[in-house]
Amino acid sequence: MSQKFVGAHTSAAGGVFNAPLNAIKIGAKAFALFTKNQRQWAAKPLDAATIDKFKENLELSGILPKHVLPHDSYLINLGHPEMEKRDKSYNAFVDEVERCMLLGLDRLNFHPGSHLKKIPEDECLDAIAENMNRTLECTSGVSLVLENTAGQGSNLGWRFEHLAHIIDKIEDKSRVGVCIDTCHMFTAGYDIRTRETYDATWAEFEKVVGFKYLKGMHINDSKPPLGSHVDRHQSIGLGEIGADAFKFLMNDERMNDIPLILETIDETIWDKEIEMLYGFEK
Ligand SMILES: [Zn+2]
Ligand SMILES: [Zn+2]
Repeated sequence: MSQKFVGAHTSAAGGVFNAPLNAIKIGAKAFALFTKNQRQWAAKPLDAATIDKFKENLELSGILPKHVLPHDSYLINLGHPEMEKRDKSYNAFVDEVERCMLLGLDRLNFHPGSHLKKIPEDECLDAIAENMNRTLECTSGVSLVLENTAGQGSNLGWRFEHLAHIIDKIEDKSRVGVCIDTCHMFTAGYDIRTRETYDATWAEFEKVVGFKYLKGMHINDSKPPLGSHVDRHQSIGLGEIGADAFKFLMNDERMNDIPLILETIDETIWDKEIEMLYGFEK
């Protein structure tokens, strides 16, 4: 039996309890979701009926909580140069973690943060780590999963060293992890297109960050070329990365037992992309 858990970022329209049902409709064995509107600060708290229904549908789907990778709001910037906005982000982030706790989920995926060209990189990374430590102190059971970025604008987290810098400052290392997005990795300058470059990039990852922190992946091809620092996803095999990298990945046991989530641009073919990815396994 396959040890890979491939899925997609499914819609939670109508309620979070719809996400697991949307996942199984496309043959997914994992999924990602927003537990609130990702473009708004405020959200109404999850009520008991919604929580029960989510747990019921998750059970029904046969998907395990560890194969669900919730994504936080795009508005949150834990390293914001302005204290007022940094605190607003922190409060919203704690709310996101609490929502995961209520839903019985064990990890939350987020983009580290941006310095907005107003503070040095190190200061921004330290602020992110500090807010993560504060969050870990007042919550339980949920790991904070840093996503690597394309490095577009002033977004940090595109170099493995940025992720390592943050992890190094986290007090409870049992509750920190990373999610590697293949599109972001590639446009950040890490090549994975050939056997040689794939092996070299992941060896670099192991050296700088470590596979023990890998708690999920986003499986995307890329529209822009290597090192362009532009974040535009493409369907698998149709972009600049190409299918080979995903064949290597589907046969790489280091990616076993973690959510592998499609965020590719054409959701009408997610079912076919999932099938294709499983077809890559030897
Ligand atoms: Zn992503
Ligand atoms: Zn992206």
